[in-house]
Amino acid sequence: MVSALLPTYARADLAFERGDGAWLTSTKGERYLDFGGGIAVASLGYSHPHLVAALTEQAGKLWHTSNLFQIPEGERLARRLADASFADYVFFTNSGAEALELAIKVARRYQYVTGHPERFHVIGFEGAFHGRTLATLAAAGTQKYLEGFGPKAEGFDQVPYCDLEALKRAIGPQTGAILIEPIQGEGGVRMLPPSFLKSLRKLCDDNKILLVLDEVQTGMGRTGKLFAYEWSGIEPDIIAIAKGIGGGFPLGACLTTEEAGRSMTVGTHGTTYGGNPLAMAVGNAVLDVILAPGFIDGIAQTGLLLRQRLAELKDRHPSVIEEIRGEGLMVGIKTRVPNTDFVAAARAEKLLTIPAGDNVVRLLPPLIVTDGEVNEAVERLSRASEQLEQPIAQKGAAE
Ligand SMILES: *Cc1c(COP(=O)(O)O)cnc(C)c1O
Repeated sequence: MVSALLPTYARADLAFERGDGAWLTSTKGERYLDFGGGIAVASLGYSHPHLVAALTEQAGKLWHTSNLFQIPEGERLARRLADASFADYVFFTNSGAEALELAIKVARRYQYVTGHPERFHVIGFEGAFHGRTLATLAAAGTQKYLEGFGPKAEGFDQVPYCDLEALKRAIGPQTGAILIEPIQGEGGVRMLPPSFLKSLRKLCDDNKILLVLDEVQTGMGRTGKLFAYEWSGIEPDIIAIAKGIGGGFPLGACLTTEEAGRSMTVGTHGTTYGGNPLAMAVGNAVLDVILAPGFIDGIAQTGLLLRQRLAELKDRHPSVIEEIRGEGLMVGIKTRVPNTDFVAAARAEKLLTIPAGDNVVRLLPPLIVTDGEVNEAVERLSRASEQLEQPIAQKGAAE
């Protein structure tokens, strides 16, 4: 039957019916080990009892009231996120792109109210991904996503990834903010050099520019810290988060310092759904688990095990795997075969992974994944790699 869905996705011929922990069960009753996590969203896996209880309890009470009224659970979640981070203010959204739209608005508004309306330009980096709205597409500057959608929104400049000198040259009298992912996700788990964020912080301070981080994928424990900026020892002015914070419920947030955030006075921004009671109940429940003592340290340890086992796999299959990179449970396998072939071969072994830029296969398992499941995933990747080492003529067999 012809699909009535707008044909913007080339979907796999596979649908799922239920999930538990890191496992998904297809409509045909087959079990898949999920190391894609719905693109870093299913942070606590599937059917986590604490999340199911929080959602169902709230569902029986109240879903939505609008932001014209107090939402106590939202006050509580904002306070907890602020207390656990650099931030003083939090605004809840329904997605990552919306959180980034607000991050850009806050940066521009801050420059405006401090007497610099001309500083509306945001510098981003090649290979970045910030979402699919018109402003976030302009911020990333990726040509293939901008094509056919009219003039690129004004005020967004791009420089090559990690190129500090090009960045310095790009900073001008109109620059108001720098926007960057601490680790590029869609771009292929591309890592910044260790001191790069420190250099950015100094550059921003020297030029009165705001440092805006896109932690939509790296945040909420993914890299083995609550937020990836913690690895660098610096603090940003604004961050956007989403994905893992809702554990599958659509939820995002923009976090700001007091200095940047106070420019957003009554009426300057709003949302109908953002931060509604149902979302806030789930967000608080996710945070209960992630902030529990030892949980985030456990992510770092499991991530280390995963990368060690993958390094061994790379040594056994150098013609298939070129490089292993990442932090915590955000891992990239740069392949020598087309990454989509590797994803298909892994899927044939009932392991879900996600392709990314730079010919990389991403592993973004639920943060609750066990060491046993990590070993199982590597076993399956090992079988997939063996398949891919076969002559080209046989490759179709893996699909
Ligand atoms: C997924 C993602 C976004 C966009 O989030 P949506 O919820 O799809 O709007 C933005 N930035 C990064 C780094 C992402 O990974």
